[in-house]
Amino acid sequence: MSIQLYNTLTRKKEKLEPLEPGKIRMYVCGPTVYNHIHIGNARAFLVFDVIRRYLEYRGYDVTYVQNFTDVDDKLIRTAEDMGKTVPEVADQFIASYQEDTEALGVKKADVHPRVTEHIDEIISFIKQLVDKGVAYEVDGDVYFDTEKFPEYGKLSHQNIDELKAGARIDVNEKKKNPLDFALWKKAKPGEIAWDSPWGKGRPGWHIECSAMSMKYLGESFDIHAGGTDLCFPHHENEIAQSESLTEKPMARYWLHNGFLNINNEKMSKSLGNFLTAKDLIQQYSPQLIRFFMLTAHYRHPINFSEELLEQAEKGRERITNVIENLEHRKQASLDGELDVDEQKKIEKAREKFIAEMDDDFNTPNAITVIFELVKDANHYLRRPQVNRQTIQAYLDMIHELTGVLGLEFNENKDEALLDEEIEKLIEERTEARIQKNYARADEIRDLLKSKGIVLEDTPQGVRWRRET
Ligand code: AMP
Ligand code: ZN
Repeated sequence: MSIQLYNTLTRKKEKLEPLEPGKIRMYVCGPTVYNHIHIGNARAFLVFDVIRRYLEYRGYDVTYVQNFTDVDDKLIRTAEDMGKTVPEVADQFIASYQEDTEALGVKKADVHPRVTEHIDEIISFIKQLVDKGVAYEVDGDVYFDTEKFPEYGKLSHQNIDELKAGARIDVNEKKKNPLDFALWKKAKPGEIAWDSPWGKGRPGWHIECSAMSMKYLGESFDIHAGGTDLCFPHHENEIAQSESLTEKPMARYWLHNGFLNINNEKMSKSLGNFLTAKDLIQQYSPQLIRFFMLTAHYRHPINFSEELLEQAEKGRERITNVIENLEHRKQASLDGELDVDEQKKIEKAREKFIAEMDDDFNTPNAITVIFELVKDANHYLRRPQVNRQTIQAYLDMIHELTGVLGLEFNENKDEALLDEEIEKLIEERTEARIQKNYARADEIRDLLKSKGIVLEDTPQGVRWRRET
């Protein structure tokens, strides 16, 4: 069995074949840090975190890079509005991003490169494009010449003429062609700027991802990911820049997550219909938000509403409850042989989970497999006789599979026996003695003793008390 993933570039599900066996190099476009992330952004970071975790679970050594866009027009404007410098604004919102994503269980990338720390690499990249004749300078700005990249449009599957027609709205006298895009932007007086061969300025947005992915992952790498809105023009432009320079494919697989919508409209900062991750985390547990996001396939849109979130809570509770019940029952159970039939069901769950996740990371179906496992565990718990080994096998598999998705469940750390569990055990002991099964009766006495429960045989029957 192998992992199949949908590649936007070929519009097909393809078998994952890493450039280097056993290794995956993956780049995810990160946030522009001029504001707190909204829950649409959070979806992107979360779904690619799950893909990364799953690839690691399947034994790949994953190098995961996600940038911070810490200088652009929006950051400059925000800095002006807040009376701060651009780096101050960036630091503030990088810290905010880290706080929110950590709460949501998103693992840190191996490298989180910041644009402002890679200006030399970016300038060198642009210089090489100019030297190759695929980029040109006009009055301190540098543009990429899209006419020089015949494959332009291959990722978003649009032909150049259609694209040109669409781009005419964005008239810029300096460009040779409306599709050309800025690699370097001349600074306006007072703006944050760096020296370059073309005068003072700052990088365009697209070039940063080309330069930083190349630095950390090489000229060709395995997976490049981001939200659907980044497919065009951002990723198309990254391909044009990188492939013009290296004449090699930039990335093998291009993955795009669907939007998180609110009232069937994309949640975005520009539309103003957004809810920050921070606000939502105040109201709901971040683990519930994570669970909710994974109930949809990463490529499909997901509608956000509080009702849907509350519905997801019911599903999550089923898992929380079974874990609690298994833990409690474990405390009240004795050692025994791992039940072979139950073990088969448990192992089968792992197989099915892997099959679903191998199929383009189908988290909703993978969650259904977890629910089936929960059902089997509940069935098992209904038996009068259970043993610790089988209960533990259920617990281990539930934790293994939910753990791959980065889901956590508060385990009941209280190891104390509940009164009803104690009474059930005492009944079992009495029954064992009637059956003259003294070994079992003593075993129960010892088990209870180890939990601090003292038994006293009285003429009225067995009494118990907790040792103080
Ligand atoms: P930005 O900071 O706007 O560049 O966005 C960071 C990431 O969030 C990008 O991968 C975007 O494609 C993604 N994104 C933005 N809005 C949404 C949305 N409503 N649903 C899902 N992903 C989104
Ligand atoms: Zn990018």
